[in-house]
Amino acid sequence: MHRIDHQLPWNCLGTQRTLTVFSFGAGERKAYIQASLHADELPGMRVAVALKRRLRELEQAGQLLGVIELVPVANPVGLAQMFQGTQQGRFEFASGKNFNRDFVRLDRLIGDQLEGQLQQDATVNLQLIRQKMRVALDTLPPAGSELQGLQRLLLRHACDADVVLDLHCDFEAAVHLYSIPQHWPAWQALAARMQAAAVLLAEDSGGGSFDEVCSAAWLNLARRFADYPVPLGCMATALELGGMADTDAERTEAQAEAILGFLADCGLLAGNWPPAPVDCCAATPFDGAQYAVAPHAGVVSFVRAAGARVEPGDPLFEVYDPLDDRHSVVRAETAGVIYARERLRFAQPGLWLAKVAGATPIRQGRLLSD
Ligand SMILES: [Zn+2]
Repeated sequence: MHRIDHQLPWNCLGTQRTLTVFSFGAGERKAYIQASLHADELPGMRVAVALKRRLRELEQAGQLLGVIELVPVANPVGLAQMFQGTQQGRFEFASGKNFNRDFVRLDRLIGDQLEGQLQQDATVNLQLIRQKMRVALDTLPPAGSELQGLQRLLLRHACDADVVLDLHCDFEAAVHLYSIPQHWPAWQALAARMQAAAVLLAEDSGGGSFDEVCSAAWLNLARRFADYPVPLGCMATALELGGMADTDAERTEAQAEAILGFLADCGLLAGNWPPAPVDCCAATPFDGAQYAVAPHAGVVSFVRAAGARVEPGDPLFEVYDPLDDRHSVVRAETAGVIYARERLRFAQPGLWLAKVAGATPIRQGRLLSD
């Protein structure tokens, strides 16, 4: 293992923040794993603790067949954002921006440079595109903010990886993951190992999220240069490990082992690993997800747990207004799994309280909420 410390730009005077990457193994193939880009989502950081220990052991045992980079604290900026006793790790205080939005679109960054450069050889193109991505990120004008500097460093480490796992969680949630549709067959083993309840597929969720920028860049380049073999060179997912409170040792150590099993599936780890379970949830289109909101303000009582299956018309939660005695029941509009619930119990205008993964498209436009 070796440790790489990057200084973030635009430190406040008298302070300095560092992004730390742990690199294990050597070889052509690479996996990149980061945790807690939304800094208040700590299950990933706890899983990373277990991964770091296990990867060290596996490296010493000679079982690493490629490079594995681990970033246990992907967002030191957000981690420090305490406001009156609560952690505020999702949006940067300075700008109000979501830490996991608006990453540099790599295909746009290097697309023009690839004109006349690609060959009729997918392996050559894979190497060329990765090289262009690295150089393009290295030669951007200086970052205009600490947030931008952080995002570029994360992307720089991930852009040339075969497999990227961005570890997140939702407020209260079953395990679920996001991917572009083209990679779903390859993620099935991970979803099965993680006992995921939902897999949400979209080519463009509209937010420029980290995982989507990593994987969709190749899809967009393959379409732009359709006369050449351009592989989908980076499999990236936002892996939602459960709810924000799901940091128990037993659960997170098991999740780390499941991730290692998947890395073995990918050919990055040698040794005997339990096979991926046969049973796996179905994937559904992200535009089939119902974001259920309340019709008025009030206190919320949930009717069903995260992970429960519902049919159209089944109640999801109730909202009570104790002043005007209004009472509303919000129901499922699609058949599927409740994969996430809000943590707060006060209904606010326009903010979702439950999400249901359905199979029929019911939403349009930007699919990601902030
Ligand atoms: Zn997140």
